[in-house]
Amino acid sequence: MTTLETGPTTDAGATFDSLDPGTGEVVGTYPVQDAAAVAETVERARVAAKWWSGLSFAQRRTHLDAWAGVLTRRIAQLAEVMHAETGKPHSDAQLEAVMAIGHLAWAAKNAPKVLGRKRVPSGLEMIDHAASVEYLPLGVVGVIGPWNYPAFTPMGSIAYALAAGNAVVFKPSEFTPGVGAWLVDTFAQVVPDHPVLQLVTGLGPTGEALCRSGVDKLAFTGSTATGKKVMAACADTLTPVVIEAGGKDALLVDADADLDAAADAALWSGMSNAGQTCVGTERVYVHERVYEPFLAKLVALAEGVRAGTDPEAKIGPMTMPTQSGVVRSHVLDAIERGGRAVVGGPDSVGDRLVQPTVLVDVPEDSIAVTEETFGPTLTIARVRDMDEAIERTNASRYGLGSAVFSKRRGTELARRIRSGMTAVNSVIAFAAIPSLPFGGVGQSGFGRIHGPDGLKEFTYSKAVARRRMPALMALTSFTRTA
Ligand code: NAD
Repeated sequence: MTTLETGPTTDAGATFDSLDPGTGEVVGTYPVQDAAAVAETVERARVAAKWWSGLSFAQRRTHLDAWAGVLTRRIAQLAEVMHAETGKPHSDAQLEAVMAIGHLAWAAKNAPKVLGRKRVPSGLEMIDHAASVEYLPLGVVGVIGPWNYPAFTPMGSIAYALAAGNAVVFKPSEFTPGVGAWLVDTFAQVVPDHPVLQLVTGLGPTGEALCRSGVDKLAFTGSTATGKKVMAACADTLTPVVIEAGGKDALLVDADADLDAAADAALWSGMSNAGQTCVGTERVYVHERVYEPFLAKLVALAEGVRAGTDPEAKIGPMTMPTQSGVVRSHVLDAIERGGRAVVGGPDSVGDRLVQPTVLVDVPEDSIAVTEETFGPTLTIARVRDMDEAIERTNASRYGLGSAVFSKRRGTELARRIRSGMTAVNSVIAFAAIPSLPFGGVGQSGFGRIHGPDGLKEFTYSKAVARRRMPALMALTSFTRTA
């Protein structure tokens, strides 16, 4: 058996365990699949893709809606599976499931409108041609997922790839294989005869094998460091990739902001899911005129939030044992370099339970500001004005999500922030709106999932120009005359 601390083995018959983060108990045992097993799975997917891509949009929608129906009826069970492997509270798990189902339903409904054939003008020179474009399935899409939102995040690729007519091979995180297996099993209940959605399990090498398997596209969600390895592995076969990687989201508070709303949002966005959210707030830049009252409100709220394993706790245990070490190193570094913890601090970072920490006076070049912390911590900085807030926000190598609280000029400020998504007077709402594109810039990745862009991401455009006026054929012939 492979333990996640010692790393994978490629021995035939090797397995690994997924663990309950709260108790450390084994939740399930799964095979470590090697390159040969991955290749066989992809071959089966190729056969299934022929059948699936041959269905009409309406036929595919019937199957996908049926799957959404199963997920909806069994939402409590899905939330329980997520809770068991990630430690997230049931309420967070239910919200995640609702968002995942919303994306599935949207993708199934909107695929024909976004991807179906459309006439386009052929122009005066080619007036004898009828021109059209449509978006055709690629074939087999590989999806590699993280553990932090083990249903919602992969569904952002799986639902859109399936609705576009592809078969999918899904490798969930080694920390949440049970959630992946549950999703794939429920799909098999509505499409029992064709392996249109399949699972492969294992650690990093299984993911790398999927990258090298010759799939027609690879959709990766995970850390920036692994995203670089995925790109390198896909380069050998020129397999196109979508990379949804890490973030260091900032929340900006303008002088005229609703401070109660901003403090509440910063706390929820920074601390929910124990801070393990790619688009969760990690940095807050506050206009100096409202810095003190904002901080006072935030501290009062944060002091009322507690991590625990009981149902009343707003924050669950950290999903990965190693993540607490990362959080501790960021907090310690910030304090050694002159920062202060106004809530929590290094002593609040246990191995499994990490209590909220709010840091102030942290130098901008410390790792708590520059690197993804992925824990329930916030750094709060005072800025002269919104120009400085935007400059400091945009100095990050990441550019995933962001938020701005401003009564008069929220949308204008949002446009100046270099990130793929910005919420105005709100936080991470863009993730729950299926018609919006989701993705980052810089080292947060590239490509877009969700919405029309997310459907097109798993297709290729097919341009067709059909000659329709024989009388004008002479224009494109050496032998005919008009
Ligand atoms: P990770 O990079 O450690 O692992 C992600 C997946 O990649 C896992 O399934 C893992 O087994 C696989 N993997 C590992 N090595 C591989 C390799 N060499 N080749 C192919 N696959 C490999 O990330 P994680 O710790 O599971 O997830 C947390 C990270 O994900 C955070 O950085 C977070 O910001 C990011 N994330 C991003 C988004 C987004 O949409 N941008 C969403 C959720 C999470």
